[in-house]
Amino acid sequence: MTTLVFGHTSPDTDSTGSPIIWAWYLSEVKGIDARPALLGQPNTEAAFMLERWSLEKPQIITDVDEGQRVVIVDTNNPAELPANINKANIHSIIDHHRLVGGLETRGPLEIRIEPVACTATIMWKMIGKDMARMPEGIKGAMLSCILSDTLEFRSPTTTDEDRTLAHDLARDLGIDIGDYAAQMFAAKSDVSAFSDAELLRMDSKEFDLPGAKLRVSVLETTAPQVVLDRKDSLMQAMQTVAAEDGVDQVLLFVVDILNEEATLLIPNDMVKTLAEKSFGMAPDGDTVVLPGVMSRKKQIIPSLKI
Ligand code: MN
Ligand code: MN
Repeated sequence: MTTLVFGHTSPDTDSTGSPIIWAWYLSEVKGIDARPALLGQPNTEAAFMLERWSLEKPQIITDVDEGQRVVIVDTNNPAELPANINKANIHSIIDHHRLVGGLETRGPLEIRIEPVACTATIMWKMIGKDMARMPEGIKGAMLSCILSDTLEFRSPTTTDEDRTLAHDLARDLGIDIGDYAAQMFAAKSDVSAFSDAELLRMDSKEFDLPGAKLRVSVLETTAPQVVLDRKDSLMQAMQTVAAEDGVDQVLLFVVDILNEEATLLIPNDMVKTLAEKSFGMAPDGDTVVLPGVMSRKKQIIPSLKI
């Protein structure tokens, strides 16, 4: 049986590149029949990566069959996985997020979760000396995953291992990291084709606080003004998205990659109070700027209070 390798829904660069890396490793090095899959259309940055490195776009799947052998990467959250995931045969999980619980397996499995900036860095450690066999395109995917998840090393999630590996890969591939990251971020910042609701769901994770279920959305961009110019209609759309997705509130943090700050939209008093309690910042009007805030995982989620 073919093993399917996939990351989370609303695939970002790591959830698009890491399945490609791991399916290459399983099939070409380990001799296991494996292929990558996507749980939705890749975002614009991930699509740029596929094009730049001439990688075939993985097949998009909506669910998995009972008993399907799968490898889950870049998440361990059943809310970000196919509805049938607990009926699949989960062979392994490779991830760099907090454990949220909810996944059930038929037997013991291999799990590797490490606090590094991206899944591809963990894979590099697991692949070891077989890196010598890795084709250019797969190395390009690995480099892209690191630059994406670290925001070119600006995110506080960045470790020395991520940084060193990215520089080694770039040297090997003859890539200038600054130029290449700028191209990736330009692709990610081109959000003109998306509706407000699509933007709110593009890079979004559900998070439960005592007393409120939140959808915490982030838009990483080098052109924050393009998004902020749409703030009135984005705040309108928050109500619809919250109702459709069964959450109490959608939060949108517009992360300015180059200036290393986030702007939180303030659609109502609930979010105003949240901004004050969580970040000690008093909103002025319908936005608040949070200097230095880049990472949902390390800075936003651990701070949230209502
Ligand atoms: Mn991801
Ligand atoms: Mn990741």
